[in-house]
Amino acid sequence: MFTYDDIVGQRLLQNSFYDIDQDTEKLCLEYLPTDFSNTIEVKKIFENETYSLLLNLFELDTTDSKVPFYDLKKLLFIEKETDEINELDLDDIDFNITNTKKFIEGYLKDYNILTKAYPIVNIIFSKVWTILKYLLCKDYIYNGIYKVDYDTAATTYTKLYNDINYILNNREKMKQELLDIFHLFAEYKVKLPTSEVALIYQAYNQHQKNDLIFNELNPYIRNKGNDTLDSWKDIINTLPSKLNAPLEFPVCDSLTKFTMQMVQLLINNEQSIRKCKNCNRYFVVKYSSLAEYCSRNVDGTSSTCQEYASKKTYKKRQVENALYQVFTTYYNRIYGRIRRGNLDKDTTLLDDIKSLHQEYAIKYNDISDKGAKTKLIQEFISLAENLIK
Ligand SMILES: [Zn+2]
Repeated sequence: MFTYDDIVGQRLLQNSFYDIDQDTEKLCLEYLPTDFSNTIEVKKIFENETYSLLLNLFELDTTDSKVPFYDLKKLLFIEKETDEINELDLDDIDFNITNTKKFIEGYLKDYNILTKAYPIVNIIFSKVWTILKYLLCKDYIYNGIYKVDYDTAATTYTKLYNDINYILNNREKMKQELLDIFHLFAEYKVKLPTSEVALIYQAYNQHQKNDLIFNELNPYIRNKGNDTLDSWKDIINTLPSKLNAPLEFPVCDSLTKFTMQMVQLLINNEQSIRKCKNCNRYFVVKYSSLAEYCSRNVDGTSSTCQEYASKKTYKKRQVENALYQVFTTYYNRIYGRIRRGNLDKDTTLLDDIKSLHQEYAIKYNDISDKGAKTKLIQEFISLAENLIK
């Protein structure tokens, strides 16, 4: 939660960025100290499992989001006709605000609501900070050492404006491409490395003359001159000798850069996104993984979708198992006798029938011949009958 005090304070917010450290992703703020003998302070404001922010940005990890992503538009208080602007489209009077303090408080309120629903929006906070700080400087409210001038504010607003418009205009298409690349192949149980899937996907779309947003982003799909390949035949020829250079992860400080770099990372790591068969939310796995369930907790329980699913299949398998059915009949019969007082409650019969079942279950699961299985059940029945005589 950011407040007016964060803007009016003495420190200079130099940058806000996204970073990955092993399997953890984080969002950080980088402050310049007011005392020059101090060093730069990096403050972590978000941390989670890698890709959680990407899935969240595309609303692939929730079933309902109360805050529309389009509310991001509220952060652009200077409206222009075009979706892309440059500094010359802005003028000093564009930044004229009547009650600066009230404006900043209202602006941050919208901002905080958005970042609560979509934490990745924090990646643009240093831009927001710079622009709001300029409003304070313009009104002579801030008199500290780090003043923001008009040129800096205009450049920053231009970047923010273009970044927000780009993501708002392209998010649905990006999401569709992401699902097409990673989900379709998984759905049809095609086990190809993600990088090859991405190549085939790009080749197909070039052949169909479809424009892709993530087209130029696959780090593998480049010719020797580092240009994107212009024919699908070239791409197919590149397949066997695809590059394996490690992916460089440049400083990621905008929403646009973030989505593009994260999709590149998925491809580079040969990972894929898959829909959990229990909760219907997407999760990220190695392309070769057989996982069908995610590791999120099932609502209202402490077990994950994975654990929940394995318990369910185990139960289902038991119910379908003929030996197990016979065993439960005898177990219930013994239990009933104890309950009615026909058998001493210290009897070992329940344990006896359980261990007899255990012994026979191993044999039963080891054989596949149907006749042999029936014979085994007959044996089990006669031994169980002997037990309860
Ligand atoms: Zn799940």
